[in-house]
Amino acid sequence: MGKQRELKWALEDYWRGGLSQEQLLTEAKDIRQQHWQVQLDAGLDWITAGDFALYDHVLNHSYMFSVVPERFHVEQESTWQWDTYFRMARGRSTQGEDGAACEMTKWFDTNYHYLVPELKAGQAFHLKSDVWLDELKQALTLTPNVKAVLIGPLTYLWLSKTQDGSDPLDLLPALLDVYAELLHQVSGLGIQWLQLDEPILGLDLPQAWKQGFESAYNQLKSGATQLMLATYFSELNDNLSLACLLPVPALHLDVVRGKGDLNKVLDRLPPYKILSLGVVNGRNIWRTDEHAVCETITPFQEALGERLWIGSSCSLLHVPEDLDQETQLHTDIKQRFAFAKQKCAEVSAIATRIEKGTWETNQDLAINPKGNLELNARLAELNEHDFRRHSAFEQRKAIQQQAFELPAFATTTIGSFPQTNEIRQARLAYKQGSLSQADYEDAMKQEIQQAVAEQESIGLDVLVHGEAERNDMVEYFGQQLDGYSFTQYGWVQSYGSRCVKPPVITSDIVRNEPMTVRWSQYAQSLTSRPMKGMLTGPITMLCWSFTREDIPLKTQAFQLALALQKEVLDLEAAGITMIQVDEPALREGLPLRKHDWQDYLRWAVDAFRLSVAPVKDSTQIHTHMCYAEFNDIIDAIAQLDADVITIETSRSNMELLDAFEAYAYPNDIGPGVYDIHSPIVPTQEWMVELLRKAAKAIPPEQLWVNPDCGLKTRAWPETRAALTLMVNAAQQLRHEFAQASV
Ligand code: GLN
Ligand code: ZN
Repeated sequence: MGKQRELKWALEDYWRGGLSQEQLLTEAKDIRQQHWQVQLDAGLDWITAGDFALYDHVLNHSYMFSVVPERFHVEQESTWQWDTYFRMARGRSTQGEDGAACEMTKWFDTNYHYLVPELKAGQAFHLKSDVWLDELKQALTLTPNVKAVLIGPLTYLWLSKTQDGSDPLDLLPALLDVYAELLHQVSGLGIQWLQLDEPILGLDLPQAWKQGFESAYNQLKSGATQLMLATYFSELNDNLSLACLLPVPALHLDVVRGKGDLNKVLDRLPPYKILSLGVVNGRNIWRTDEHAVCETITPFQEALGERLWIGSSCSLLHVPEDLDQETQLHTDIKQRFAFAKQKCAEVSAIATRIEKGTWETNQDLAINPKGNLELNARLAELNEHDFRRHSAFEQRKAIQQQAFELPAFATTTIGSFPQTNEIRQARLAYKQGSLSQADYEDAMKQEIQQAVAEQESIGLDVLVHGEAERNDMVEYFGQQLDGYSFTQYGWVQSYGSRCVKPPVITSDIVRNEPMTVRWSQYAQSLTSRPMKGMLTGPITMLCWSFTREDIPLKTQAFQLALALQKEVLDLEAAGITMIQVDEPALREGLPLRKHDWQDYLRWAVDAFRLSVAPVKDSTQIHTHMCYAEFNDIIDAIAQLDADVITIETSRSNMELLDAFEAYAYPNDIGPGVYDIHSPIVPTQEWMVELLRKAAKAIPPEQLWVNPDCGLKTRAWPETRAALTLMVNAAQQLRHEFAQASV
């Protein structure tokens, strides 16, 4: 996105009509130029080109292959090209009619989202490669040593969806013609290397897809331009031999994630083949332990000589750009970090050292060698009781029913209320020092008061304080915990022009002071209805942070859980009787390979349970998840043993509930009855219909009524209107069921 997210600002300006198409493209050109310059300055032998995207690199491919769904078709007009591209991404652009944007989903196990190609049986591919070729030509003005890159044909098809249920793999022969043509064009430019990214080689692949690899790469054997097959994000394992034997001149492996492949690859690599080892981690912000890397790869240098290349493990899209910009990091911490620019220099330095055969020990890369003794002792003595509520759900439910006397189809919301301009301005003023702490707190209390009054007049049963004081659900907690560090410019692309700035776990996590108690307590003091305390769960904290590499993720999750547990107990002691621990990221933490799922799910579930286990039976624990496909992990969700779970289901028409029905999910559940991502106010009838449908899948005594996620991106008028209708819908259902039971 550029050091200061230049691409973001340019794109958003263009979409608003403030920047011309030409100005946007010039900005893009400058950013590419700067990025290549970073690589040249670092002394890399090859710069990589053709991977730049104005929105998303998968969409680039779709557009280049003319995989443009019919709803976006326009008469051929050259200036429309980018607007069609943006309409596919966002549903609208400066020219052309609106249409439903293409589906967006996560790129492997990263937090980057790509646009899913929409294919159909008999799909035709037509090549429109001028944008891509122009980029390569731009790179060639800097150096002849350009390595072009594309997503490989198998991975492109794997990431696609067909509307008609046909198998995308059937389209491989047609797609290969396009790749052959591209290869021809690249050779025409005099480019020596074309890298084809096939990260799906790190997944559990059906046999037909493995065969697809063989036939594709036998056919793609190159001419003047040589092919490098690149994999990343996981160990190839059972696909390693396949990858080694495909008839291409070079293979790239991610040996940060795929350490296990290192022992086997030399035996399997044909004697002609170049091996590129991705030794510098493209997925995290830590400096590379160059000493350890040199030790590891020396045998490869001895065996392969010139046939050994060194690189980053994967693209550097997933790390921030330049550490040099960070002026506020403690030097102790800063010297342990490396962002994209520093990682390029590391690659170069490692290659030089290996060539010279000399390297020194890196000093002090360990963050906190001793760690927090008290915390580690506590972790060591954890036993099964630490993970279990006092009584089983049935007993808890009876006790809670008595305590709360909630009606059937109880109504609630997910936590946040509209983040108005006033809230944002107050936060900014406080951060910049123009608003005192006391005045800021007063302003936030005002917001809470309003949120409570609104909810009471709407008639909701279980209230929330509205989260006005939170900028972000991870950063807010990170800032109050020991063990987290924050960057100023550590932005990473999430999708399109959107970036996130993940906090970094840099040492043991400890909670010294209550974090949310005074807000929740204040909110509860304003109402006689139950007020949910609101926390972010340990797995979500972990998944949306950069994590440590010197201790296991599980340990970090448990440290976070113990910190949250203290907060949970303080909330309870302060009279908060319902506590929601959000885990929207639980499913995205799933490892890429199925055989690693069980282990992850075990400790992820344990971390959640650890954070809430010691509360009284009468304290009701809620959790919330969104965007999740539940089928795979329904068992783990049940094991969380939350008293109530609220989930996203409205967009899928309650289809997600099938998993809960089939499993006979035992605890209470609030399937979202309307989509908060849209400003459209749903009708009461629509929500009633969804609830009737839900009541067929789930026993009505287990059902709650709520929107499908937090309301912070919405405005008050539509929020008020939608929630009022939602409360009416719940009343209507109560009525229907009361009559049915008479
Ligand atoms: N409690 C959070 C909110 O309402 C949950 C956000 C989320 O699920 N991503 O904003
Ligand atoms: Zn949500």
